[in-house]
Amino acid sequence: MLRNTATMNTLSLKSQVKVLLPLPLVSPYDYRVPENLSVHNGDYVTVPLGNRLEKGVVWGKGEYEGPEEKLKYINDVLDIPPMAYEMRQFIDWTAEYTLSRPGLVLRMAMSASVEFDKMKQQKAIILSPGAGNKRIRMTRARASVLQIVSDGKPHSINDLASHAGVSVGVIRGLIEIGLLESISVMVEKTLDLPSWKMPRPSLSDQQTAAAELLAASVRKASTSIDSGFVVFALDGVTGSGKTETYFEAVSASLEEGRQTLVLLPEIALTAQWLDRFKKRFGALPVQWHSNLSAAERRSSWHAAASGVAKVIVGARSALYLPFPNLGLIVVDEEHDVAFKQEDGVIYNARDMAVVRGHIGRFPVVLASATPSLETITNIETGRYKRLSLPQRHGGATLPTVDIVDMRTESSEQHSWLSPILIEAIQKTLVAKNQIMLFLNRRGYAPLTLCRQCGFRIYCPNCTAWLVEHRARARMQCHHCGFSMPVPQECPECTACNSLVACGPGTERLAEEVREKFSAARLAVMTSDTVHSPSEATKLVESIKRRDVDILIGTQIVAKGYNFPHLTLVGVIDADLGLSGGDLRAAERVYQTLHQVGGRAGRAEKSGHVILQTYQPENPIMQALVSGDRDYFLELESQTRRKYSMPPFGRLVALIVSGLEKRLVDAAAHELGRTCPIAEGIAVFGPAEAPLSILRGRHRRRLLLKANQTIRVQKIVRQWLSATKIPRGVRVKVDVDPYSFM
Ligand code: ADP
Ligand code: ZN
Repeated sequence: MLRNTATMNTLSLKSQVKVLLPLPLVSPYDYRVPENLSVHNGDYVTVPLGNRLEKGVVWGKGEYEGPEEKLKYINDVLDIPPMAYEMRQFIDWTAEYTLSRPGLVLRMAMSASVEFDKMKQQKAIILSPGAGNKRIRMTRARASVLQIVSDGKPHSINDLASHAGVSVGVIRGLIEIGLLESISVMVEKTLDLPSWKMPRPSLSDQQTAAAELLAASVRKASTSIDSGFVVFALDGVTGSGKTETYFEAVSASLEEGRQTLVLLPEIALTAQWLDRFKKRFGALPVQWHSNLSAAERRSSWHAAASGVAKVIVGARSALYLPFPNLGLIVVDEEHDVAFKQEDGVIYNARDMAVVRGHIGRFPVVLASATPSLETITNIETGRYKRLSLPQRHGGATLPTVDIVDMRTESSEQHSWLSPILIEAIQKTLVAKNQIMLFLNRRGYAPLTLCRQCGFRIYCPNCTAWLVEHRARARMQCHHCGFSMPVPQECPECTACNSLVACGPGTERLAEEVREKFSAARLAVMTSDTVHSPSEATKLVESIKRRDVDILIGTQIVAKGYNFPHLTLVGVIDADLGLSGGDLRAAERVYQTLHQVGGRAGRAEKSGHVILQTYQPENPIMQALVSGDRDYFLELESQTRRKYSMPPFGRLVALIVSGLEKRLVDAAAHELGRTCPIAEGIAVFGPAEAPLSILRGRHRRRLLLKANQTIRVQKIVRQWLSATKIPRGVRVKVDVDPYSFM
């Protein structure tokens, strides 16, 4: 259904057009249209820029009023389906909201189209047009070849030979006598398309109720002339079947012939997810994430942009693929901060997905067991519609959660496992069940210091400690990637053997587990040990086969996985992430711990979660123990409301950075001087960023806080244009910031 799009594109633009280029320019450029070209809005074109040719997209009628001959001509129109009107609106909207240059948003949408014209030409075999009149000696080999090509489609010579079970020579022979013909075709990998006609699982009553509402809204969006925009919050405990439920919406979208986008926070998640999808729909969806090869990216881009791909699953950037016919977006684990992009165009894919649905007039599903406070608030104000799945599927119970008070339950020195957790691990091993130990910190130790002089080993480029990675014998910066060998002596006082590791990382925890449970089979899952989705799949499979007794992992194990024999989850440092002035720290810790705990007892076996904490009275821990999520959310919501913090107020952060400290300070100071003064607005800073040096750049922050009704974009734009920023200093604008580092 290309309703809007089609009508908006048909008007051929004469004489002059605007072309948006995927470059950091302030606005589109005007170009002349040559007589012999017919150009429409959304067309991909090549245009001269300086002395090179650039690809861009036609962005409306030109408005240039000077002498026409000063304008350059469009060079060519590319043979790519034009970008839909809705997509162009979405790009403009994103640029406006995030205060980014529209060309940079367009660049996200065109990221893989660049080499489109280099698409491979390949030889293919077809039946000759005159083949019917030829008389030949028929053999069984020849007959089976002819039967295949009689479908009228081009086949590659190798495929044809193997399908027919003949040698390539047989085919060559048929070409020679003129029965077959070799032609050049553009290769477009044929996609196996997911089908809605596959048998569906029988859903529980609650699942059915939710699924029917979702499917009905998808159908309505496709058939009614009214907008089908609606946001559903699919709010269900871990293991309640949220995925099965939203699959019904995907099925309805397939049936309507429209495209569906599913956004997932982590690549690691997709392995198991893809498997389930294939079982449900008979074919894989098209994928989009940073781990694709250039060729895969190109092919996914074209499948999405041409409308051939019906279901696309991807990380946040998939939202900017130029879908011509999108009819549904699902954002799974909507609360996840991985949806926030922190570089380039700074946006939150969860929020932008809602905008995309509004523009495209279709439903958006936000799924989570721990919805963000933003989503909860939108449910309460009636903007989002809640669909609840309060029970685990198949009668599985939620795990029991216990707290170990580390203030009293202290363990031996250099041990990170409390006696209570050790005992629980032993029992679980005896029962031949699996254990997961969660520690959200990679490496051996987060800090290395000198016992003699107290020196801490830090990164030369960042305000951050270097983290020892013992397996690789290197010290590494988790912010900029700097690394160096582990020093033998203190870099400051040159004392020997004086460096000590402080605190645990996953490597150090693994060391202790090996010591204490030498018979147990251990696996470690972090971004250091698992580098690709296929490696993740391998590890996940081995855990499912019960080749692993104890799994140690960072947050990459927290999401999505189902391990039926996993009955004990131990959280080594439940307080990790609570310090620091992050607005959402409590919410995030709660969500992560809830998610991790949700890995336990997913099947008929019941699960047990043990939280080691120094703050047992913290409402987060209390809510996890009692299972009373709403109590925690209510407290959190009260605090935010009291201080008019998001979602009850608006924030925009300015991050001023540069190599020269003096200039950065001057610019930050100047921004402080020119800051907007108005009712309902407050500006804090400038102040040194917690990461005051990152990759060698000095960093200062300012924070604008505004009442919810205030349009912050306009204010910030005026503020920036009224401030002179010296060369060499960059001001990054972060609307709705998640990171305060
Ligand atoms: P969630 O996404 O809410 O954590 P899932 O959709 O992953 O839950 O479901 C948890 C487990 O229960 C999965 O293994 C899933 O296949 C199974 N499951 C959920 N609903 C059904 C159902 N109606 N029929 C069969 N299996 C189901
Ligand atoms: Zn660094």
